[in-house]
Amino acid sequence: MSVFRRLQLSIRQAVMLAVATAVIGPLLVLWPLDQAITRQAQEPIVEHSRRASLALTAASLVGPLWSIDAAATALMASKALEDPAVLGLRLVENRPNARPLGFIRQGADLEGAIVMRTELFREGERLGELELHFDPLQVDRLLSERIQSSLVLAAVQTLLGLIVLTLVLYRRLAAPIDKLMKQASGLATRGQGGRVAWGRQDELGELGNHLNAVHDQIDALFEQLQIQKTEIEEVALHDVLTGLPNRTLFSELARSAVAGARRDGSRLALLFVDLDRFKAVNDAFGHPGGDHLLRDLSARLRAALREADVVCRHSGDEFLVLLHDVREREFVAATADRLLRELEAPFDIDGREAAITASIGISLFPDDAADHETLVRHADTAMYVAKRLGRDRHSFFREEFDEQLKATQALERELEVALAQDQFELHYQPQVGTADGVTAGCEALIRWRYPERGLVPPGSFISTAEQCGLIADIGAWTLRTACRQIAEWRAAGVPFGSVAVNVSALEFRGRRLLDTLASAMAEHAVQAHELELEITESVLMTDTDSAQRILSRLREMQMPLAVDDFGTGYSSLAYLKNLRPSKLKIDRSFVRDIEDDPDDRVIVQAIVSLAHSLGIRVVAEGVETEGQRAFLCGIGCELIQGYLVSRPQPAVDAARFMCSAREPETTVA
Ligand code: C2E
Ligand code: MG
Ligand code: MG
Repeated sequence: MSVFRRLQLSIRQAVMLAVATAVIGPLLVLWPLDQAITRQAQEPIVEHSRRASLALTAASLVGPLWSIDAAATALMASKALEDPAVLGLRLVENRPNARPLGFIRQGADLEGAIVMRTELFREGERLGELELHFDPLQVDRLLSERIQSSLVLAAVQTLLGLIVLTLVLYRRLAAPIDKLMKQASGLATRGQGGRVAWGRQDELGELGNHLNAVHDQIDALFEQLQIQKTEIEEVALHDVLTGLPNRTLFSELARSAVAGARRDGSRLALLFVDLDRFKAVNDAFGHPGGDHLLRDLSARLRAALREADVVCRHSGDEFLVLLHDVREREFVAATADRLLRELEAPFDIDGREAAITASIGISLFPDDAADHETLVRHADTAMYVAKRLGRDRHSFFREEFDEQLKATQALERELEVALAQDQFELHYQPQVGTADGVTAGCEALIRWRYPERGLVPPGSFISTAEQCGLIADIGAWTLRTACRQIAEWRAAGVPFGSVAVNVSALEFRGRRLLDTLASAMAEHAVQAHELELEITESVLMTDTDSAQRILSRLREMQMPLAVDDFGTGYSSLAYLKNLRPSKLKIDRSFVRDIEDDPDDRVIVQAIVSLAHSLGIRVVAEGVETEGQRAFLCGIGCELIQGYLVSRPQPAVDAARFMCSAREPETTVA
């Protein structure tokens, strides 16, 4: 076997070689043996025939020699040469003067011949001596004749054997192996011929049928794989929750839509739909409720559009809509408004109603962008503007939006740097008694000491910080700084009363505010009455679990709360009743004109009496004139804050003011 392996023979060649060896090999081995046996058998026969020939010749010569017939003797002697084995003859008569008689076969050489002699007698009288010379190669000649016939026989036998074996080999082995090979390669390449009919019942037929079974199994597996592949593609290209195309598929569709529109000169519209305050839905209904709403909302969006239009879930609460072949902007605007109206009807989440609105940004191809990525980016920018304009509306992209967005993003990056490099500082504005001017407290107001631009007021960056989420970090910084300042003033004996810190409504969304407050107060041993938190009415209106939890925790801590900018928001009396803040701060916009505007006077007066009836103290913001102070004093507004008293100042100056206001001789280090 290893020989075949070393020779690298195919099965067919190996079997043919084996057959040839099996047929010819024994022939070659047995041939010399056969020759030896045949020679052994032939030699006694030849010996015997020689003796017979000698006896016969002797018998035929006795008569003529007795009668001394020389002619007959010569005739009989010559007849002996008729035997082909006899090469020559010599007869010596037992008569005086008789010459010996000799015959030699023509051309024969008596050298080496086998000589046999006999005496010739009749009636006891010796007549002479006969000598016959026999052919020494007689046995060889006989053997060579036999070899020739044997060779022909062996050749015919071998040939027949080879033909029969080759035929059997081809039909039973070579052809089925070829068929198996084709079947196996058909199986491997999954091409034609993977399945073959096998009529035969032998081992190769069985193997072929096994391959058929394997083929069927592979077919079934491939079918299953195909189904799974389709499912995976479906999952990979669609949003699992809503079943809408996902961002990947949308990009593909948008890319080809843009290419198509470029070809035939048509116009596309891309709508960036962002749900307004979706977080509130999640807070109120939990994440399963939020998912429920997203599913229903997706179905509404899909149903409100044409078959050819594409809707995709871009991320969390953002959807993209691609409108094909739009001619007029009005059509796009009407479609956007229709979508907004579709969302107006409340959603039913497990028997409870949930309302949601959306802001839609729109960009057009080719008007606003040359490719689908820019189209999405511009629609996103426009959506951002729709949000800023009050949400629940659509807004078309305009070139300057992009500039504004870029500026906002640059500001966001700068704010991060400002936080990291400690570029913020707090200024303090006193709140004094309207009647006696005694300092009751002060408000901490943040400023950004910008390296090149100097002091930047909060109005320039707070809303951006709120939008990008940095407000939480800024709020934490403000609280820690205010608490440290309280500790310093307390230690220096500054009569600061309490320090009011502004807290953004967005800080009421997570747990962080409470944690920061607790740790900052603990670090500087600040008592609740030394601090005051200014919150806006929007916090009171935020009916989320976390805002309510924070407010009740603050109440437990007996943390004084002041409602800032009162009158500019919802001014909900019900919330005011529940919250019971310690202070109301009348917004500057009402104070500004109280000297001239009777309406403002009425409003301010109403706020003051309302607050008093609920046991809440009132601070008037933005008091700039003596007239304003006098009016406020007249209606019983306890405290005022404004330029009339002092501008917001750095801690050292504010402390100096507070010390001097109470005890003019007190100095602050
Ligand atoms: P606010 O809490 O209503 O603060 C009063 C604002 O009125 C301050 O503006 C103050 O400088 C200004 N003001 C006080 N008296 C007068 C006056 O007599 N005339 C005029 N024209 N203005 C007066 P400021 O410091 O620019 O702060 C603006 C707003 O920024 C604040 O309004 C507050 O809402 C917010 N803010 C300030 N600091 C922080 C802070 O640390 N965190 C948060 N979240 N917001 C802050
Ligand atoms: Mg304030
Ligand atoms: Mg205010």
